[in-house]
Amino acid sequence: MYCDHGRGKIAVGTEYLTTEMMQSELERRAYLRAMGIDVWIPRNQADPVFEDAVAECPAEALGWEELRASVAGCTRCVLHQGRTQTVFGVGSPDADWMLIGEAPGAEEDRRGEPFVGRAGKLLDEMLRAIGEARDSVFIANILKCRPPNNRDPKPDESAACRSYLERQIELVRPKIILAVGRIAAQQLLDSDAPVGRLRGKVHRLGETPLIVTYHPAYLLRSPSQKRKSWDDLCLARRVMSGMLS
Ligand code: SF4
Repeated sequence: MYCDHGRGKIAVGTEYLTTEMMQSELERRAYLRAMGIDVWIPRNQADPVFEDAVAECPAEALGWEELRASVAGCTRCVLHQGRTQTVFGVGSPDADWMLIGEAPGAEEDRRGEPFVGRAGKLLDEMLRAIGEARDSVFIANILKCRPPNNRDPKPDESAACRSYLERQIELVRPKIILAVGRIAAQQLLDSDAPVGRLRGKVHRLGETPLIVTYHPAYLLRSPSQKRKSWDDLCLARRVMSGMLS
């Protein structure tokens, strides 16, 4: 299999498909599924090959379904070797709020969902406090696969995964982004400053306002910081209500 981004061709087996043909096939499948019609794939024509081909396509050309398939089949960095599954993200595809964390931990890797377990429950409570819920916002991570032993993402891994997140942001078009925790804040803002210095201000990611706050796992270890995270959420709410820009 081979993807020639410059010429827009993907080789699947012995056949060359243009990216337009691939897009059109994906759209056909999405349409048939939406109409409740099963998409038949011959046993001798392995669909994972197709999904691998999608994974080779530039993320910026993909819609939701293709992006999800692309992430699921991704082998762009070594983290694919140790994952149970990719953790794509959850929530509303047209949410006003987008929360971006670091990377899946063990529980997220097992369940395929970001921010689960005790930290996830605390995040849900934080959302409830501002009148939002897990399914009314969109939650994603910088990395879609779990780094071993919960180590920090390496620069090459973040770079390899970045276009997926960028495409998610383009598709959701949130009104505000909440960078949750040090890694997300530093990588989104291309900064090495600590969270304590990045929070309390309105940053921008392109045109979108971005607020930094503490990771709920950190808040569980340091409950005295919860008041600051509340201040961050209030700041984000003021931005959303147009009181700040
Ligand atoms: S972390 Fe991202 S780039 Fe690396 S294999 Fe997973 S999906 Fe692909």
